[in-house]
Amino acid sequence: MLNIRIEKTTSPRVRPDYSKLGFGKHFTDHMFLMNYSPEKGWHDARIVPYGPLSLDPSAMVFHYAQELFEGLKAYRREDGGIQLFRPDKNIERMNNTCDRLCVPRIDPEDALQAIKAVVEVDKDWVPHEFGTSLYIRPFIIATDEFLGVHPSHSYLFCIILSPSGAYYEAGINPVKIGVEREYVRCVKGGTGMSKCGGNYAASLIGQQKAEEKGYAQVLWLDGIHRKYIDEVGAMNVFFVIDGVVITPDLSDGSILPGVTRDSCIALLKHWGIPVEERKISIDEVIEAYKNGTLDEAFGSGTAAVISPIGELYDGDTKMVINNNEIGNISKHLYDAITGMQWGKFPDSMGWIEKID
Ligand SMILES: *Cc1c(COP(=O)(O)O)cnc(C)c1O
Repeated sequence: MLNIRIEKTTSPRVRPDYSKLGFGKHFTDHMFLMNYSPEKGWHDARIVPYGPLSLDPSAMVFHYAQELFEGLKAYRREDGGIQLFRPDKNIERMNNTCDRLCVPRIDPEDALQAIKAVVEVDKDWVPHEFGTSLYIRPFIIATDEFLGVHPSHSYLFCIILSPSGAYYEAGINPVKIGVEREYVRCVKGGTGMSKCGGNYAASLIGQQKAEEKGYAQVLWLDGIHRKYIDEVGAMNVFFVIDGVVITPDLSDGSILPGVTRDSCIALLKHWGIPVEERKISIDEVIEAYKNGTLDEAFGSGTAAVISPIGELYDGDTKMVINNNEIGNISKHLYDAITGMQWGKFPDSMGWIEKID
C-alpha cells in the first residue's frame, strides 16, 4: 500500500473543446510521480499539479534511452461511473519491460493504486461520449546524472492522463497497409516484446516511408528470415484464412504482447471460433489472397481496439481484403470489447476494474 501525498492544483488548466479532443494532445490537472533510489526503493509517491519535469541534461534517459511506458484507458459508463479494462495486464507487462531494461519493478498493487488514485483526482476530465476515454500513460525514466553506459541507479515513475476523442468518429474505416521489406522493428533477442520508447524511435522511418506512399501503417516482417509477420504499425495483427483466425505467436520475443490481442484470443476461444497462435509468413497471406481464402485481416490495440485492413500492398501487388469492408469476426470482436470497456455489456470475462 502506497502512502500517496496529494497536492491539488490552485490554477486548474483550461479545458479543451471536448468535441475536438483528438489523441494525446491535452493533459489533465495532475500527474502521479514516484522516485526510486537503491537506498529507499520506490518512494515519495505523490500526486502533484501537472507540469514540466526538471532534469539534469546528463540524466541517463536522454542518452541511452532507458525508458519504458504503458498505455491504457479509463472509460466512462452510462451511469457516470469510471472503469479500467484489464489494468493488471498492463502492469504485468510494465514489469516485464522493467526486467528487460534493467529497471527495478514496481509492486503491481502499488502501480494499480497509483493509476486509480490519479484518475480519481482528475475524474472530471474523463469524457462522456461512447468511444471517448481518458488515456493513461504510465512511464519510467532513468535519472542518474551520468554519461557512462550502465543501468541507472535512480528512476522516476510518472503517470500522465490525456482526455482523448473517439478513434472512429465516422464509422470504422478499413486502412491501407504496406509490407515493409527494408527496415525491421526489432529482432529475436532484442526488445520487441518490451514497451520501450527505443522501439518506436527505430520504427519511425518505416512509418514515414509508408505515409509517403499513402499507407496508414507498416506491416512489419521478422528481422531474421524477413518473411514472418510480426505486427502492423504499433498493433498486433490477425488474419482470418478459411474461417480460422491466425495471429503470430509470441515465442520469439519480437512481438509486443498486446492486452487487446490477448482479449481477442480469449473471446474467440470463448465463442468457439478456431484461433491459432503460430508463425505466419507473408507468402502464406499472399497465397490465401490468391486462392480466395483470405477472409479478413485486422490490427488490435488499445487505441483503435480493432483496425480492419482493407488494402494490403506489397511492392506493386495490391490486395483488397473483404471488399475493403469490416469483416464479421472483426466487427464481433470490436463490439464485444468496446461493449465491455464502456460498460454497455456485462463484464462476462472478469476484465473490468471499477474506479467509481
Ligand atoms: C502497445 C502496443 C501494442 C498493443 O498493445 P495493447 O495492449 O493491445 O494496447 C502492439 N504493438 C506494439 C508495438 C505496442 O507498442
